[in-house]
Amino acid sequence: TERTLSIIKPDATRRNLTGKINAKFEDAGLRIVAQKRIHLTKAQAGEFYKVHAARPFYDELTTFMASEPVVVQVLEGESAIQKNRDVMGATNPADAAPGTIRAEFAESVGENSVHGSDAPETAKEEISFFFSGLELV
Ligand code: ATP
Ligand code: MG
Repeated sequence: TERTLSIIKPDATRRNLTGKINAKFEDAGLRIVAQKRIHLTKAQAGEFYKVHAARPFYDELTTFMASEPVVVQVLEGESAIQKNRDVMGATNPADAAPGTIRAEFAESVGENSVHGSDAPETAKEEISFFFSGLELV
Protein backbone atom coordinates (compact mmCIF):
# COMPACT_ATOMS: atom_id res chain seq x y z
CA THR A 1 0.00 0.00 0.00
CA GLU A 2 1.09 3.54 -0.76
CA ARG A 3 0.19 7.14 0.12
CA THR A 4 -0.03 10.25 -2.06
CA LEU A 5 -0.92 13.91 -1.65
CA SER A 6 -4.09 15.21 -3.28
CA ILE A 7 -5.28 18.82 -3.45
CA ILE A 8 -8.77 19.89 -4.46
CA LYS A 9 -8.00 23.23 -6.09
CA PRO A 10 -9.88 26.55 -5.72
CA ASP A 11 -11.93 26.21 -8.94
CA ALA A 12 -13.45 23.00 -7.49
CA THR A 13 -13.95 24.13 -3.88
CA ARG A 14 -15.63 27.31 -5.20
CA ARG A 15 -18.12 25.19 -7.17
CA ASN A 16 -18.80 22.91 -4.15
CA LEU A 17 -17.42 19.83 -5.92
CA THR A 18 -15.38 18.33 -3.06
CA GLY A 19 -17.80 15.46 -2.41
CA LYS A 20 -18.24 14.57 -6.09
CA ILE A 21 -14.46 14.52 -6.58
CA ASN A 22 -13.81 12.45 -3.48
CA ALA A 23 -16.47 9.92 -4.52
CA LYS A 24 -14.35 9.23 -7.61
CA PHE A 25 -11.27 8.58 -5.48
CA GLU A 26 -13.20 6.28 -3.16
CA ASP A 27 -14.84 4.45 -6.06
CA ALA A 28 -11.34 3.78 -7.43
CA GLY A 29 -10.31 2.14 -4.15
CA LEU A 30 -8.42 5.07 -2.66
CA ARG A 31 -9.00 5.87 1.02
CA ILE A 32 -8.84 9.43 2.43
CA VAL A 33 -6.65 9.02 5.53
CA ALA A 34 -6.01 12.73 6.32
CA GLN A 35 -7.81 15.87 5.20
CA LYS A 36 -8.06 19.61 5.90
CA ARG A 37 -9.35 22.80 4.31
CA ILE A 38 -6.81 25.64 4.22
CA HIS A 39 -6.29 28.96 2.47
CA LEU A 40 -2.72 29.14 1.14
CA THR A 41 -0.84 32.41 0.97
CA LYS A 42 0.77 33.17 -2.37
CA ALA A 43 4.18 32.52 -0.76
CA GLN A 44 3.08 29.08 0.46
CA ALA A 45 1.66 28.23 -2.97
CA GLY A 46 4.95 29.39 -4.50
CA GLU A 47 6.94 27.16 -2.16
CA PHE A 48 4.72 24.15 -2.86
CA TYR A 49 5.04 24.59 -6.65
CA LYS A 50 8.67 25.77 -6.63
CA VAL A 51 9.63 23.07 -9.17
CA HIS A 52 7.66 25.17 -11.68
CA ALA A 53 9.28 28.51 -10.70
CA ALA A 54 10.86 29.05 -14.12
CA ARG A 55 7.68 28.24 -16.09
CA PRO A 56 5.70 31.04 -17.74
CA PHE A 57 2.52 29.99 -15.89
CA TYR A 58 4.11 30.07 -12.39
CA ASP A 59 2.69 33.44 -11.36
CA GLU A 60 -0.78 32.57 -12.67
CA LEU A 61 -0.64 29.15 -10.96
CA THR A 62 0.41 30.46 -7.55
CA THR A 63 -2.07 33.37 -7.67
CA PHE A 64 -4.82 30.87 -8.50
CA MET A 65 -3.83 28.42 -5.75
CA ALA A 66 -3.93 31.26 -3.19
CA SER A 67 -7.19 32.74 -4.50
CA GLU A 68 -9.59 30.70 -2.37
CA PRO A 69 -9.45 27.75 0.06
CA VAL A 70 -8.26 24.33 -1.03
CA VAL A 71 -8.74 20.87 0.48
CA VAL A 72 -5.46 19.05 1.07
CA GLN A 73 -5.67 15.33 1.71
CA VAL A 74 -3.70 12.10 1.83
CA LEU A 75 -4.97 9.18 -0.26
CA GLU A 76 -3.95 5.63 0.56
CA GLY A 77 -4.21 2.45 -1.47
CA GLU A 78 -2.49 0.00 -3.77
CA SER A 79 -0.37 2.04 -6.25
CA ALA A 80 -2.02 5.17 -4.87
CA ILE A 81 0.26 7.62 -6.71
CA GLN A 82 -0.52 6.26 -10.18
CA LYS A 83 -4.13 5.43 -9.35
CA ASN A 84 -4.74 9.00 -8.20
CA ARG A 85 -3.24 10.39 -11.40
CA ASP A 86 -5.34 7.98 -13.49
CA VAL A 87 -8.53 9.16 -11.77
CA MET A 88 -7.46 12.82 -12.16
CA GLY A 89 -6.87 12.56 -15.92
CA ALA A 90 -4.54 14.60 -18.12
CA THR A 91 -3.40 18.08 -17.01
CA ASN A 92 -5.34 19.72 -19.82
CA PRO A 93 -9.04 18.79 -19.53
CA ALA A 94 -9.27 18.82 -23.33
CA ASP A 95 -6.94 15.78 -23.32
CA ALA A 96 -8.41 14.04 -20.26
CA ALA A 97 -10.07 10.64 -20.73
CA PRO A 98 -13.86 10.47 -20.28
CA GLY A 99 -14.92 9.83 -16.69
CA THR A 100 -11.80 11.36 -15.16
CA ILE A 101 -12.08 14.25 -12.70
CA ARG A 102 -10.48 16.73 -15.05
CA ALA A 103 -12.65 15.65 -18.00
CA GLU A 104 -15.80 16.13 -15.93
CA PHE A 105 -14.95 19.13 -13.77
CA ALA A 106 -11.83 21.07 -14.83
CA GLU A 107 -12.31 24.51 -16.33
CA SER A 108 -8.95 24.93 -18.11
CA VAL A 109 -5.34 23.68 -18.13
CA GLY A 110 -4.59 26.03 -15.22
CA GLU A 111 -7.84 25.71 -13.26
CA ASN A 112 -7.92 21.94 -13.42
CA SER A 113 -9.61 21.01 -10.12
CA VAL A 114 -7.03 18.66 -8.59
CA HIS A 115 -3.34 18.13 -7.88
CA GLY A 116 -1.66 14.78 -7.32
CA SER A 117 1.92 13.84 -6.43
CA ASP A 118 3.84 12.39 -9.37
CA ALA A 119 6.38 10.01 -7.73
CA PRO A 120 7.20 8.34 -4.38
CA GLU A 121 9.78 11.00 -3.44
CA THR A 122 7.48 13.94 -4.21
CA ALA A 123 4.56 12.21 -2.47
CA LYS A 124 6.63 11.98 0.71
CA GLU A 125 7.75 15.63 0.47
CA GLU A 126 4.29 16.93 -0.36
CA ILE A 127 2.57 14.99 2.44
CA SER A 128 5.02 16.38 5.00
CA PHE A 129 4.60 19.90 3.54
CA PHE A 130 0.98 19.89 4.79
CA PHE A 131 0.70 17.22 7.51
CA SER A 132 2.66 16.53 10.69
CA GLY A 133 3.37 13.01 11.87
CA LEU A 134 0.68 13.42 14.53
CA GLU A 135 -1.95 14.05 11.85
CA LEU A 136 -1.12 10.84 10.00
CA VAL A 137 -2.46 7.59 11.42
P1 ATP B 1 -0.41 18.85 -10.67
O1 ATP B 1 1.09 18.96 -10.41
O2 ATP B 1 -1.18 20.08 -10.23
O3 ATP B 1 -0.97 17.57 -10.15
P2 ATP B 1 0.16 17.94 -13.34
O4 ATP B 1 1.22 17.11 -12.70
O5 ATP B 1 -0.86 17.27 -14.20
O6 ATP B 1 -0.64 18.77 -12.25
P3 ATP B 1 2.19 19.91 -13.98
O7 ATP B 1 2.90 19.90 -15.28
O8 ATP B 1 2.88 19.43 -12.76
O9 ATP B 1 0.80 19.12 -14.20
O10 ATP B 1 1.65 21.40 -13.76
C1 ATP B 1 1.27 21.83 -12.48
C2 ATP B 1 0.04 22.69 -12.60
O11 ATP B 1 0.38 23.90 -13.26
C3 ATP B 1 -1.09 22.12 -13.46
O12 ATP B 1 -1.91 21.22 -12.78
C4 ATP B 1 -1.85 23.37 -13.83
O13 ATP B 1 -2.68 23.82 -12.75
C5 ATP B 1 -0.72 24.37 -14.03
N1 ATP B 1 -0.33 24.42 -15.43
C6 ATP B 1 0.37 23.50 -16.12
N2 ATP B 1 0.54 23.85 -17.39
C7 ATP B 1 -0.07 25.07 -17.54
C8 ATP B 1 -0.26 25.98 -18.61
N3 ATP B 1 0.21 25.72 -19.81
N4 ATP B 1 -0.97 27.11 -18.37
C9 ATP B 1 -1.45 27.39 -17.14
N5 ATP B 1 -1.31 26.57 -16.08
C10 ATP B 1 -0.63 25.42 -16.27
MG1 MG C 1 2.64 17.92 -11.31
